[in-house]
Amino acid sequence: MKKYFLILIIIFMIVTVGCSKNSNLENKNPFCEFSYYKKELLQRYINYKAKNSSLSEEDVVTQVNIGLDQPHYTNTKRTPFLNKIYILSNKYFYMDSDYVPDDLEQINSLYSNGNRLLVHEARIQFEQMAKDAKNQGYTIRAMSGYRSYQYQENLYNRYVTEDGVTSADTYSARPGFSEHQTGLVVDIDNNSSIYTSFGDTKEFQWMMDNAYKYGFILRYPKGKETITGYTYEAWHYRYVGKEIAGQMRKENLTFDEYYMRYLDI
Ligand SMILES: [Zn+2]
Repeated sequence: MKKYFLILIIIFMIVTVGCSKNSNLENKNPFCEFSYYKKELLQRYINYKAKNSSLSEEDVVTQVNIGLDQPHYTNTKRTPFLNKIYILSNKYFYMDSDYVPDDLEQINSLYSNGNRLLVHEARIQFEQMAKDAKNQGYTIRAMSGYRSYQYQENLYNRYVTEDGVTSADTYSARPGFSEHQTGLVVDIDNNSSIYTSFGDTKEFQWMMDNAYKYGFILRYPKGKETITGYTYEAWHYRYVGKEIAGQMRKENLTFDEYYMRYLDI
């Protein structure tokens, strides 16, 4: 029994020393066991944990890596992975004003309310999803897809004029930060009630049960507002591919969290 205890202590020491090697701080470092730990952010992890003591170390590292310990739109970075289905767009990662994704294609008018564009792969999967939904008695219709930087600039400026910056920032992205610019996003409705009520429709429930099978995820879920930086949007779906969508569902992660844990290498 004593022997086992000794072995445990030795293992603990190895782990602790291994971790503290990564930092200049003498204190035990509980954050470094995660593969996505960044030693240059250690002080920020410590500060964030002090302010959010109920968060696990895993969540502290993830959220600081997103940038959530600082106000929205500070320390912003140009997003990498342009033209990839796992491109990240949020209030810390932006696209340049001239970024237009390759392979934009028009969604079949059977499943949209006009000239709506998506990147090829997302367009194929969206149409298949809408078709399968239709066969089961559900109506899924794209009412917004790709939006250019200039379009978003006009939209955002209009909201700011109407509501002020603070309010506009809660529901509209600043130009360059809109996920619609990726060409991987659709806003949908059911062609009978206004899109803002989509969360109350049977189609919404169908999407919750099935969207991931086609590679789509609800991007701004209820209860995750502080992580996504957006109010809940039942109508806004992001294409990430089937593999990522399935894993996100299994682990109950937003795309921001998933990105930091698995894609931010
Ligand atoms: Zn949207």
